[in-house]
Amino acid sequence: MLINPDPITARDLLLQYAAPVNAEQLPLSLCAGRILAEDLTAAENIPPFDRSPYDGYAFRAEDTAFASEETPVTLTVLEEIPAGSVPTKTVVSGTAAKVLTGSPIPPGADAVIKYEDTVFTQETVCLFSPVRSGSNIVRTGEDVQKGAVLARCGTVIDPGLAGTLASQGKARPPVYRKPRVAILSTGSELVEADEPLPPGKIRNSNRYMLEAALRNAGCEPVCFGIAVDTVAAIANALEQCFARCDAAVITGGVSAGDYDVTPDAMEQIGAQLLFRGAAIKPGMACAYGIRSGKLICGLSGNPASSLINFYAIALPALRRLAGCRDPLPEEITVTLNRDFHKSSPTTRYLRGQLCLKNGTVSMDFSKEQGNVVLSSSIGCNVLAVIPAGSGPVAAGTKLKGYLL
Ligand code: AMP
Ligand code: MG
Repeated sequence: MLINPDPITARDLLLQYAAPVNAEQLPLSLCAGRILAEDLTAAENIPPFDRSPYDGYAFRAEDTAFASEETPVTLTVLEEIPAGSVPTKTVVSGTAAKVLTGSPIPPGADAVIKYEDTVFTQETVCLFSPVRSGSNIVRTGEDVQKGAVLARCGTVIDPGLAGTLASQGKARPPVYRKPRVAILSTGSELVEADEPLPPGKIRNSNRYMLEAALRNAGCEPVCFGIAVDTVAAIANALEQCFARCDAAVITGGVSAGDYDVTPDAMEQIGAQLLFRGAAIKPGMACAYGIRSGKLICGLSGNPASSLINFYAIALPALRRLAGCRDPLPEEITVTLNRDFHKSSPTTRYLRGQLCLKNGTVSMDFSKEQGNVVLSSSIGCNVLAVIPAGSGPVAAGTKLKGYLL
């Protein structure tokens, strides 16, 4: 077991223990935001046949070799081929077929001209200049070649991928099941948000905070209520979590105080502790473990601490569980738009928001960056990393940041 690893070591270690859950097949209409569970290989060419990009006429290019304004070429129109129908005649020298956008090119024809560039009647079409063979024909497979890999397993189904799946006839694609992640709150002082608040008690914010964070991560949160601060109560609740879920997130009781029994409860149910504590502020107190291949993320009870630790360490592993191919957050450089007054003996993750002003992106943040101030996490979409050993940091400083 590691003690106080740096957050990147902790995050990467956890990721090694996370493998995607199983897949299910869902109607494509329900797949937005889900994660594709196989490579999407094109089974068909798109378009499936040579087709016309315009309303116009298909003909043999060689017929127009000597066409000019003075000596136009007149072709006999054999038939009209609306989109969705098939040609019935072969275009031979001296003939043409009327085509519409999306209609198949008839056999014999090797060029198309837009109707605007011709003079036509019902029976004939006149062309006034030579046209090269192959002009204005969209070739079979020009958009998508049969056999091409269109999307990798683990890609989020966005509008582009949803449409691409449909174009390949994948009406029920395999997607990863959403991992069920248990949320267990520990603390004898907690009551739920909809309960009256007796003296000495506080509301359980972590549960709702983590429910939101897990949903955003593509997981299905399952709440297991509040356990009081005893090994037996927490161990018993954890057993229930693992009976139904793929992983668990538990808050409270991970520091070194008298009532901090969460790690003991984790060991009681046979979990192997991977690390205790992490060199990150906020979020130093934590205990992570694994039990029968399932992750337990033990976070601080302090809401902001818990959230930052979750983002920095737990989130990529949970996204991997959900099937995500690239679960690590995007690394960016952020420019602070104000001073941060405190020094940072330990690596500090500043929570804030990217803001776009006059075409420049900077990071806005509250000066309240402590363990308990959850409200300064509202709207948080970026974490900036102040390296360990830094003094106060001035506005304009560029820092490594993680996009959430
Ligand atoms: P702990 O990590 O158990 O030492 O708790 C640290 C602080 O966080 C204490 O002040 C707790 O009352 C508070 N706390 C614990 N759990 C929660 C929770 N679920 N929601 C809000 N605050 C909590
Ligand atoms: Mg506690």
